[in-house]
Amino acid sequence: MTLKQNSVTIIYCSQTGQAKAIAESIYDLAASNQFEAEIHCVSGYDKKFKLNEITNPVVFVCSTTGDGEVPETGFRCWNRLKRKEDDKFLSNLNYAILGLGDTNYTTFCGGPKSFHSKFQDLGGKCIYGPFWADDGTGLDIEVEPFKDGLWNALRSFLSKDQSSALNTESIAPVVDNAAQAVEDKLKELSLTDTELTIPVLAEKILTYTISEPHDLLTNKEEQLKLYLDITSSTEIYEAIVNSNDIITDKTSAKTCYDLKFTPENIHILENDSLAKAPSADFSYGPGDAINILCPNNSEEVKSLLTRLNVKSNEDVISIKSSNPKKISGRKYVELTEKNKLSIFNFFTYCVDIRHSSIKKGLIRMLANYCSDNSDEKRLLEFCSKEGSELFQSLVKEPQLSLLDLLNMFKSCKPPLDHLIQNLSPLVIRSYSLCSFYSKTDKNELETVFNIVNFDQSMGRTYSRQGIATGYLSKLKSSEKVFFFKRKFQGFTFPSDEDLQDKPLIMIGPGTGIAPFISYLRSKDADKNSKSNLVLFYGCRDPTKDFLFKSEVLNFSTTVLSNCYLSFSRVSNIENESDILKKSYQKNAKYVQDSIRMNSKEICHLIHEKSAYVYICGDAANMSKDVLKCFVECLANECNLSVEDSNKYFLDMMKNKRYKQDIWA
Ligand code: FAD
Ligand code: NAP
Repeated sequence: MTLKQNSVTIIYCSQTGQAKAIAESIYDLAASNQFEAEIHCVSGYDKKFKLNEITNPVVFVCSTTGDGEVPETGFRCWNRLKRKEDDKFLSNLNYAILGLGDTNYTTFCGGPKSFHSKFQDLGGKCIYGPFWADDGTGLDIEVEPFKDGLWNALRSFLSKDQSSALNTESIAPVVDNAAQAVEDKLKELSLTDTELTIPVLAEKILTYTISEPHDLLTNKEEQLKLYLDITSSTEIYEAIVNSNDIITDKTSAKTCYDLKFTPENIHILENDSLAKAPSADFSYGPGDAINILCPNNSEEVKSLLTRLNVKSNEDVISIKSSNPKKISGRKYVELTEKNKLSIFNFFTYCVDIRHSSIKKGLIRMLANYCSDNSDEKRLLEFCSKEGSELFQSLVKEPQLSLLDLLNMFKSCKPPLDHLIQNLSPLVIRSYSLCSFYSKTDKNELETVFNIVNFDQSMGRTYSRQGIATGYLSKLKSSEKVFFFKRKFQGFTFPSDEDLQDKPLIMIGPGTGIAPFISYLRSKDADKNSKSNLVLFYGCRDPTKDFLFKSEVLNFSTTVLSNCYLSFSRVSNIENESDILKKSYQKNAKYVQDSIRMNSKEICHLIHEKSAYVYICGDAANMSKDVLKCFVECLANECNLSVEDSNKYFLDMMKNKRYKQDIWA
């Protein structure tokens, strides 16, 4: 029996492209499930679609940015919905929701959860889900079951048998802490005798052709257009590197760079041609971050192309889709249509060849091209439903790259077009600015970053550095770097009027100090400022990795009312200056120890003086431990229950008095 074609509207709200890619893969599955689908970016709200007028079911895929915020593309939609109070406004809306987040952050899936609850307040009905996928443990753990059950759920709903409309609570319980769920489930798996549930191999729809050798990105205009096309932006800043110095000691376990660069030009795309404005005056405030364009490592790209048997790496690649209705790879079709790209440059600038691309769909495709049965079998295990834990622990956790997989499964020879179709786009990386913008000074931007190292272990077949930090660390004076304005600037500091006599407590261990340096520099320059500023900074060893040491110590005697230092790997600071000794309390290992040791004073600032609290840096452990420490301290000092103290800080977050700019 042929099912009648049903229709569905897919809407995605994406920050880095993950939600978009998932929405597109759902769109591509619609036809084979007898559904007619249309797809929109949420930014088309009220322009391309009217949410209150859609009568067919909506599939909403939404990611999270910052510490639980709605992605930039969703701002307009969210701001409009937020203000609405009519509880029938979305009474037509029947939706399935898949949220993407990361349990490393305090507010897991904050963006999609905000939409979900607002949809319901406005009369919308959730007909499938919610599913909250956790990047901390692997998005696929929730994404795959969402996709598996979606079509049946939509069919049940459309057949008006709403009582049987699936709710995931029954088929895939919503687990906010997916990490724990995985741990609970994790046991030794032997899949040898198990019948595996293998995902369907996505049909190959891309084809590529190669024309004569032609190296392209030597032409600057071509290069800039490519960058704009890649990021779908209309403006790009071109900056010149002034210096890029290592600011940690040679013996430090971490290597931190201090990159300084000056924007020279802003290139603006107008009617497909580039206009250049000279000496771009890039203005920003403390707490702002920029997005830097960082290509893949060229040696890794060369090795990958060699392994893929692609020899003519200077030839022009043209990618076409045999099924224009499908979205997979459409971006790559457009990129190669608009830009004369060599295969090498395509792999260098356009696709992620590391762990972000390694998803079950890609593994399924690789399995299809193995000549050796055991290679094929293992790859099928990895992508099967039953092999989820294996995939997680052996592939996702070690953050294996595409080249690692191809090195491991030597008989696997995927064709380039089917491979490209399964690769995620390469995304830009954000960096907080530690410079201070002043109209009168030379407009030099400064940022600090620690090199991310992946050694050759846990199945990784070669050692490497993080995509961005590896690239940035190699930049030399007078070389160019390209960046974009970051629209989401949620870490702005309170103005002097807002602050008045309220204290500002800043917590930024390691490179997390960056935005505070920018702020303190601005305060230092403003001789009239009388703000009550408190800084908590931590590093391993003051002789090795104390970032901006002399500046911070100077601030401790000028703009800071109090500076608390903690050192995690040393306690003997005999040879340090008296100023440093004054800010260090013996045995303060982490910033939380300094907070605990000064609990009375800090809680007084928060509770009695209505202090603002700003935290920047690591989201995996530090920011959570700091919040926990604050909750405990306030509970003790103010005789509150832990629940009430917790609520106190959640209220502070809601009122933007406790802000976090954190990254896992
Ligand atoms: P990737 O190739 O993307 O690999 C990162 C992976 O390595 C992660 O999945 C993680 O699991 C692992 N990893 C191990 N150790 C670390 C570590 N110490 N940091 C990050 N990942 C690690 N970073 C800065 O160094 N300085 C900044 O000022 C800064 N500002 C940021 C501002 C914002 C708003 C955001 C969102 C992020 C900021 N980051 C900053 C993080 C930065 O964008 C990159 O994520 C980071 O530099 C790693 O990039 P990469 O491409 O080298 O690593
Ligand atoms: P780091 O050098 O790893 O750590 C700095 C100090 O913090 C060390 O002394 C470290 O001690 C200590 N530390 C470790 N675990 C801690 C915990 N649970 N609580 C408190 N302190 C802890 O710092 P980093 O490499 O610069 O890392 C900062 C992270 O923030 C990076 O991931 C970076 O990408 C990110 N970042 C984000 C932003 C942003 O989102 N705006 C800005 C800047 C940086 P030990 O190592 O001795 O345990």
